[in-house]
Amino acid sequence: MEMWDLVVIGGGVGGCTAAIYGMRYGMKAAIVEMLAPGGQAATATTIENYPGFPEGITGPELARRVHEQALTFGVEIVSAEATEIVAGADGKWIVKTSNGDLETISIIIATGAYPRSLDVPGEKELRGHGVSYCATCDGFFYRAQTVAVAGGGNAAAEEALYLADIAEKVYVIHRRDELRAEQYLQKRLFEAENIEILWNSVIVAVEGEGAVERLQLRNTQTDELRYVEVQGVFVAIGHIAKTEWLADLLEIKGGFIVTDELMRTNQPGILACGDIRDTPLRQIATAVGDAAIAAFAAHKYVAEWRAERASG
Ligand code: NAP
Repeated sequence: MEMWDLVVIGGGVGGCTAAIYGMRYGMKAAIVEMLAPGGQAATATTIENYPGFPEGITGPELARRVHEQALTFGVEIVSAEATEIVAGADGKWIVKTSNGDLETISIIIATGAYPRSLDVPGEKELRGHGVSYCATCDGFFYRAQTVAVAGGGNAAAEEALYLADIAEKVYVIHRRDELRAEQYLQKRLFEAENIEILWNSVIVAVEGEGAVERLQLRNTQTDELRYVEVQGVFVAIGHIAKTEWLADLLEIKGGFIVTDELMRTNQPGILACGDIRDTPLRQIATAVGDAAIAAFAAHKYVAEWRAERASG
């Protein structure tokens, strides 16, 4: 089996950054990536808070550039799903994947997080038929129609603003009477003429014959039920990290991997970076910063691992 210094699991902006730093530290690195590279960033409309792009940059373009940069440094891409990490011989790790096993000294987990679902009747059935988790991907289909966005955070606000330029009318459905989104986004939301915020409201059902036609809402203060007619609903209520497969190996808190300040997990040589970490902020900038630190720590670990074996 071919041996690696570093296997990065996940080819989003964080994973690619970890690989870039890893290669530049002289480590032999591979990225295991299940889907097209890019991760969550690739679904962002315009990224205005990532330094170096005063005009903003689209998520797909940033993801494409970071991926290309990783390839420039010679990282190997393994298109597969990582399914298990097990201890190998002599303190090494084996990353089991749907496309064979990889033996490595260190691992950086950078598989990010995926959108949380509402978990209400009709959501699953009408997914792809009016229920979406990405306005950038699907907003185009709702030109001059009425849509709703569920959530009150930055993501919901961004989705609503993006959709307001395409759709005729956008409802923002939020369970409280104040938004979590940053002030500058709130200001834009309040100023948009075709955005209406439905406060203290939760979606209890998504309904329609073969496609979304209406949402049933419940007022969280009065329990009153009402319907709003929409052709699409965009769910933007946060993210969940896929960590179940790591639960027996790593310390997990609230579904996210616990790391120290060097991105080290409770297992020697296994690190994590970006949205999959138990972290107060999930941003591209933080994922990239995490990734640089993780690669630094992985390099230190690999150097010590080699030095120990050379002296022994
Ligand atoms: P978030 O900040 O956790 O907000 C989730 C929103 O969904 C909250 O308003 C929450 O309501 C609501 N919510 C959660 N579960 C719900 C449920 N079951 N039913 C109804 N509503 C529910 O998540 P996010 O907006 O995806 O953002 C995630 C991170 O990415 C944040 O750190 C955010 O700042 C960052 N982000 C930044 C930008 C940007 O800077 N441009 C853009 C997107 C995301 P409550 O408020 O009542 O809890």
